[in-house]
Amino acid sequence: MKQVITTRQHGMFINFGKIYANLLQLDTSLLFQKILNIQYSSACFSQSWIVLLLALSSTGVAAGEDLQKIAPGIYLWLGVHEDFSRSNKGRIANTGFIVGSERVAVIDTGSSFQQGLRLREHIRAVTDLPIAYVILTHMHPDHALGTAAFNEDNPTVIGHQNLADALARRKTTYLNNMKRLLGDSSEHTQLVMPSHSVSVTQGMRLDLGDRWLELKAYPTAHTNNDLSVFDTQSGTLWLSDLLFVERIPVMDGSLLGWLKVMDGLIASNCHNLTIENRDLSTTRHNQNQQPCQPISQVVPGHGPVVTAWRSALATQRRYLDLIANQIRQIISEGGTIAQAVETVGLEEEGNWLLFNEYHGRNVTAAFAELEWE
Ligand SMILES: [Zn+2]
Repeated sequence: MKQVITTRQHGMFINFGKIYANLLQLDTSLLFQKILNIQYSSACFSQSWIVLLLALSSTGVAAGEDLQKIAPGIYLWLGVHEDFSRSNKGRIANTGFIVGSERVAVIDTGSSFQQGLRLREHIRAVTDLPIAYVILTHMHPDHALGTAAFNEDNPTVIGHQNLADALARRKTTYLNNMKRLLGDSSEHTQLVMPSHSVSVTQGMRLDLGDRWLELKAYPTAHTNNDLSVFDTQSGTLWLSDLLFVERIPVMDGSLLGWLKVMDGLIASNCHNLTIENRDLSTTRHNQNQQPCQPISQVVPGHGPVVTAWRSALATQRRYLDLIANQIRQIISEGGTIAQAVETVGLEEEGNWLLFNEYHGRNVTAAFAELEWE
């Protein structure tokens, strides 16, 4: 049975307290860097126009020049294809919001309190409706650290069933890393824990007023706490970091799990929360089952919205599958992680932005997973 939150239930939640965290970079990356002598060069793109926009922004975060209306009532604030830096102030991931006739849902809040404030300004420039929900698509600091900017709205903060634990474990690392990487831009950033969780077997529906959102929690893929948001009105599926477009995908969960999730998405003709998320161990049927609905477009966690979303998923799948196959070969020949990092997937370099920053870590993580396959 799906979990449904309506206005009546708004305010009934489990209080997990406050959290925090920051940084996409795993604690282990520095260790592997040392062991393998991998050179992770910093990504400093000199884009003077970004610097100019930063200077003009009222909150110091690169402003709404990239705010896009991607469907009626759906707004995407596009992140830049860079690593965290003081110049981009951490605005590297896509965030946005969806407006119903009665209330608003925010999808991801960015990497800092300041970025969250700027996102809130964007919302207020569009609508005065109450900001009832903040949906966090997963734990990564470029997506989940701006939530405190919405405290005055008293929203229900929603995430995957594993999100609270994942954030709690990384709180200190994430916050310290953001302080180091973003400097003053990370001021006042604090961790806000989800007050409501979405289970992998049940999903959740949210009523925005004449508009329903369907939240789906996935088994471990990009992370162990990935959540997607489907807008039933427009057919927009917000996949967040389950899909990277242009920028190299980053693996922080399970390579095999992610491949499986992508296969399921590519094979699907439409979105249906009940069918895809039902508990297969029971024969229970949901009386509120919704019809399967066409997916018109997909919002990735990084990169532009795509209508040819199967093709975008296939491109990402090709990269991750290639890594898996080449690593399996090395493992079968008794090779080492260091050998894998030196050779695996290098032909993909020209296909992805930030390849040198993240590919080595993907190979390292994939090797650790596959050697126990
Ligand atoms: Zn992520």
